[in-house]
Amino acid sequence: MQTYRNLLAANKDWVRTKLELRPDFFKDLAQGQSPEFLWIGCSDSRVPAEDLTGSQPGDLFVHRNVANLVPESDVNSLSVLQFAVDRLKVKHVIVCGHYGCGGVLQAMRHGDLGLLDAWLANIRTLYVEHAAELAALDDETRRWDRLVELNVRRQVRNVADSAIVHKAWQEEGRPFIHGWVCDLKTGYLKELETRAPQ
Ligand SMILES: [Zn+2]
Repeated sequence: MQTYRNLLAANKDWVRTKLELRPDFFKDLAQGQSPEFLWIGCSDSRVPAEDLTGSQPGDLFVHRNVANLVPESDVNSLSVLQFAVDRLKVKHVIVCGHYGCGGVLQAMRHGDLGLLDAWLANIRTLYVEHAAELAALDDETRRWDRLVELNVRRQVRNVADSAIVHKAWQEEGRPFIHGWVCDLKTGYLKELETRAPQ
């Protein structure tokens, strides 16, 4: 575990490394951004979007929240989606969940976390919708993994059904929407689905 002073020292090292590779790195970065990807992921400390994908500053526009949700009534995530699609003109929206997601597990159990449980009601609804399929799985870990996947697919659907994406599909034939899951035990990303512009 790093103390906060270690984080500040590491930042100085990071700046030095970037400048050694490219003296104009920060000058260029300050000019503006035109990322190709919007990443919607979980806040979990083990799934850092840039590290997982070998991305550099400027590559990904990122939104992370507990359990990578894009509820149709959530002003926060939808504002990010709108800015990324309308203004930044991203070509791809990636919704990435992960096995072992504490948010998804919390949604499977009885709530005792107040606000967070209200947020996770979106997943609890999904659990009820798929109750028969999930009940057929023989242990909690398998039900958990499956619910992680179902949640990613539902968030892909929420993004695809949004007015923001419909407009961009009709007018500009983008973005593609992807549903991925990270396996924490191996580090690999798994593709669940891709939706092409319609
Ligand atoms: Zn998570």
